[in-house]
Amino acid sequence: MHLLIKIMPDWLKEFLRVARDFIYLLLYTGKNKYCPVCGKYSRKFRTYGETGREGSVCVHCNSLERHRLIWLFLKRKTNLFDGKKKLFLHFAPERCFLPRLERLLGAENYLTADLYDKHVKFNMDITNIQFEEGSIDAVYCSHVLEHVQDDRKALSEIHRILKNDGWAIFMVPVNDMEETFEDPAVTDPAERLRLFGQEDHVRCYGKDFIFRLKDAGFRVSEVSAESLCPEEEILKMGLLKDEFIYYCTKS
Ligand SMILES: [Zn+2]
Repeated sequence: MHLLIKIMPDWLKEFLRVARDFIYLLLYTGKNKYCPVCGKYSRKFRTYGETGREGSVCVHCNSLERHRLIWLFLKRKTNLFDGKKKLFLHFAPERCFLPRLERLLGAENYLTADLYDKHVKFNMDITNIQFEEGSIDAVYCSHVLEHVQDDRKALSEIHRILKNDGWAIFMVPVNDMEETFEDPAVTDPAERLRLFGQEDHVRCYGKDFIFRLKDAGFRVSEVSAESLCPEEEILKMGLLKDEFIYYCTKS
């Protein structure tokens, strides 16, 4: 199947994608669920293919639970939507956010970065960021640090480039254990999958993740869906109660 997709011409892939989206719209039309990212309703959220997690994906914009939580937080609790110019650095940008943030902030202020992805504006190593000290208003870095060997260096770099009144948002998969488990000697993908849950993960974060942020010099607020909205909104927007946003400021 993968080989078939690889050799398929782009026009056919695009046609199949449009056809699939059309079928989804027919199957999922309804008002039960609401996606705050795209602002559209559906009968239910789609199952997430990789994990088989039900009630996960918005059929309109492909947002996952964590994307909807982040968007809600950005809208309700940050200054991102106040219309004032700000430089926003987004690591490993998610497709459901890209066009919306570019429209909101303006192309010159919305800075996308990734180590490998050629579609971003800056190919850079998060542990060696190419921006001046105190030059960036806001940073968003979700599900990146668990792939980075020297995550403490990445955090100190983000702290360095933030303005004094700037803020950064981090999300990582946090496991139900007190202490983070890591072993830099483990480099074999199969072994990483076994130990860390994914072939390209270098650790399993525990509940002590917040201390790495504090060690980097940040003041940290841990935000959950329950602290952000009532139960009926959590259900309506398909949010997870065990995902956390780490909102960090310099002072
Ligand atoms: Zn959506």
